[in-house]
Amino acid sequence: MRLDPRLRAALTAADRDVIIYDLAGIAAQYAALLRQLPGVSVRFAMKAGPVDEVLTTLAEAGAGFDAASPNEIAQALRTGAPASRIHYGNTIKSDRQIAEAHALGVRDFATDNLADVAAIAANAPGARVFCRLATSGEGALWGLSRKFGCSARDAVRVLDGARRAGLVPAGLSVHVGSQQMQAEGWQSAFDTLADVLTELRRRGIAVDHVNLGGGLPALGCLDKHGRPLDPPLEKIFTVIREGQQRLREAAGTPLDFLIEPGRHLVAEHGAIRAEVLRLTDREQLGGERDHWLYLSCGKFNGLYEMDELQYPLVFPGHPAGELVPAVVAGPTCDSDDAFWHRDGQGLVPVPAGLASGDPVWVLGCGAYATSYLTQGFNGFTPLPYRCLPVTGTAEEA
Ligand SMILES: *Cc1c(COP(=O)(O)O)cnc(C)c1O
Repeated sequence: MRLDPRLRAALTAADRDVIIYDLAGIAAQYAALLRQLPGVSVRFAMKAGPVDEVLTTLAEAGAGFDAASPNEIAQALRTGAPASRIHYGNTIKSDRQIAEAHALGVRDFATDNLADVAAIAANAPGARVFCRLATSGEGALWGLSRKFGCSARDAVRVLDGARRAGLVPAGLSVHVGSQQMQAEGWQSAFDTLADVLTELRRRGIAVDHVNLGGGLPALGCLDKHGRPLDPPLEKIFTVIREGQQRLREAAGTPLDFLIEPGRHLVAEHGAIRAEVLRLTDREQLGGERDHWLYLSCGKFNGLYEMDELQYPLVFPGHPAGELVPAVVAGPTCDSDDAFWHRDGQGLVPVPAGLASGDPVWVLGCGAYATSYLTQGFNGFTPLPYRCLPVTGTAEEA
């Protein structure tokens, strides 16, 4: 994986564990996305990078936010983003959370059921709602199916119910699944969206926008076997551009489009400086001998997604030399705190000469790492962070 020279320099300079975000990289990624999808408004999914400096960088570039709780809304407002560029994208919310969001100025709410619509009508009167359609999640590393979204038939009921309750039936949304690896995942979402828009038009319900959700893949990551994930990004963007035109025709109105990328904007632009705790080998019960590499960070300190991903590792003190295949694991007393491994699969070639205290750089972990920091699991301190500003030198968090 490509390592930005400024990120490399900051990793080299770090002498303690830290997660480093490259704000210039994030800004450039945002600009590249706008070039691919002209006219589409970006609402960054905050959970992928709830770091003030990251959010401010995006807000200053014109992005808005997909927030999932009143606290996220408050954080988004602190970046200077106007409430009109923030929506409540979580279909799961209590009466009180809806009222708090409304009091903070948010007027757009995701929904997928009539109980939630009634609660929005009571606690955010006159608000705009968009209904999330279920997707299969097929082709994605994390499908997000079943917990979110309703059927096409139910979506028509939900938006009709919203209209009757005095709300504005404003739009539709989907999420094709996180790290969606297939353009077909988008294609089938557009098929469903077109069907629902056609039916809404027949009923005289005119929505003004479609929210294409998250799912745009991160680049530069490895699957759990250590193979490069190589998403067909160009093809995905082509499907999205063509899909917009198709949906405008189905709706018969000039629809606006939003998109809520999370990992795509930040994954490549964050890295962790951690340490080797120990490289060991042990005979297992079956008589085979495994190498294990224990690092100072793991599943409960930033690398939660190690169930499906391998993070590229760099051992800066060991540019060459003998390698041994090892299971890479975090420091906690929990056996899930390890890269996926089974029957000799999922092993990572690591320098045989690694010693306790050697630095290790964990790349491609700018997405979700901060959200997945546990509070002192086994007494390990949550990783601090720092940001490399868009220009100049690093500022300490
Ligand atoms: C998490 C989430 C996203 C972002 O997902 P990515 O796969 O990281 O792009 C977008 N929208 C909603 C509603 C989410 O919950």
